[in-house]
Amino acid sequence: MRIAIVGAGIAGITTAHELAVDGHQVTVLEQQEGVAAGASFAHSGLIAPALLEPVARADQKRGLLRRALATADALDTPRDWSGASRRWRRQWQSACANGSDQARLSLIDLGRWSLERQKALISTLHLEHERSDGVLVVARDSDSLDRKMARLEGVQAAGQRVTRLDADGCRQIEPGLNPDTPLAGGIRIEEGGAGNCREFVHQLRLIDEAHHDVKYHFGVSVCHLQRKGDVLQLRLSQRQNARDDSAPTRQRAFLPTRPMELPAQLEFDAVVLATGPDALPLLREAGADLPLQPVWGRTATFRLRNDWAQLPLRSALVDAETGIRLTRMGQRLRVGGGHVLGALPQGDVEQLFMPLYQVLDRWLPLAARRGDVQIWQGARPTLPDGLPLIGPAPLEGVWLQLGHADHGWTLACGAARLLADQIAGRSSEIDATPFASLASRGWS
Ligand SMILES: Cc1cc2nc3c(=O)[nH]c(=O)nc-3n(C[C@H](O)[C@H](O)[C@H](O)COP(=O)(O)OP(=O)(O)OC[C@H]3O[C@@H](n4cnc5c(N)ncnc54)[C@H](O)[C@@H]3O)c2cc1C
Repeated sequence: MRIAIVGAGIAGITTAHELAVDGHQVTVLEQQEGVAAGASFAHSGLIAPALLEPVARADQKRGLLRRALATADALDTPRDWSGASRRWRRQWQSACANGSDQARLSLIDLGRWSLERQKALISTLHLEHERSDGVLVVARDSDSLDRKMARLEGVQAAGQRVTRLDADGCRQIEPGLNPDTPLAGGIRIEEGGAGNCREFVHQLRLIDEAHHDVKYHFGVSVCHLQRKGDVLQLRLSQRQNARDDSAPTRQRAFLPTRPMELPAQLEFDAVVLATGPDALPLLREAGADLPLQPVWGRTATFRLRNDWAQLPLRSALVDAETGIRLTRMGQRLRVGGGHVLGALPQGDVEQLFMPLYQVLDRWLPLAARRGDVQIWQGARPTLPDGLPLIGPAPLEGVWLQLGHADHGWTLACGAARLLADQIAGRSSEIDATPFASLASRGWS
């Protein structure tokens, strides 16, 4: 089949790869000037299936209380009276109230399968992106450690290697941890680690262009889609300058690309929308009036100090109180967190990033060259129940690969195969039902 993928983030590129492997002729259309220019640009890079949590969960109320106490892992829902935001919040609150652990367990199953698939891709395609193995959750007080450990009992029972450590055990894994910060202990998770998503995406793109039937077009925005007989028609508008200067912290990826002359309309047998939170009108044309909203977060990336570069940050670190993550990207250190629903957070940049700097100081105060920081804010495409949508749209031939929220990098390789299998009419190794049906989630 001739298949168009709209969106060249991690979701679109991995889906393009799986469809090309299945023998389809794939065209990727991206409005920005390169791959991974949206949410996939500079996120934290953590891959930890055991820690996956949908944004809708019963303890969010406690989370809001924790936020009032100045921590950062709970969802922040600023006052915004737009209809879309009110609808999202209403559905999120009811998903929190009704939330069973089943959604979380489905997410973890997809995350574990995805990690296996990612490892297989890395080894068969010889991908060489920056990455590290293992995750260490660290806590200053035993209460937050107990809470995290209780949450992980189910995944431990499902066979994941999750070990509670005392302070010495944590320091053996990460000798660079701040000796002045009280350390109640930690939790070591063997399955997962951190990786540079953007590097991964660039490499996959190059391999697919060289070895499969995948074509990329950048600076091209898909503005309408409709079915005409047997085909789907996409109307395009070419963007001369896709730069988004709406805020200094919203950086974009720029790669030199050839100017590409495309006709204003293209036809395909199938279309995959992997657009992130940007394309609600397109989704409506596909018959899916989805309550997809951005949840903003931020990262700060520092060069490691020369003397510190030898002291390995071997694992990804997660601060148990705030959920803020510290990950190593080659010779750089990234700190990421924050969850703000709706509009791009504006205001004093120093204040916005302060929670990240505080957690960096808490655990690794000597690691980073402070004068040399790249800051970034990105929008996680999020549905109110917190699960991704991986399946058919109501309009025949249109498929959705959306709403990966805070886990798009973790879920990408599994989600891509899950959709490719549905398009092929095959069943997958894991059950697609929790992610595929709009009707069961109340949106048809
Ligand atoms: C601060 C932060 C930290 C995060 N940390 C992690 C983490 O540690 N681990 C993890 O697994 N995930 C993490 N995430 C989540 C992850 O970044 C996202 O889930 C993932 O990047 C989403 O990928 P995507 O391809 O769906 O969206 P995007 O990367 O946003 O790609 C969508 C693309 O579609 C394009 N597009 C939209 N509309 C059109 C159109 N009409 N025509 C053409 N192109 C279009 C956009 O330009 C964009 O490039 C984090 C996110 C943030 C913001």
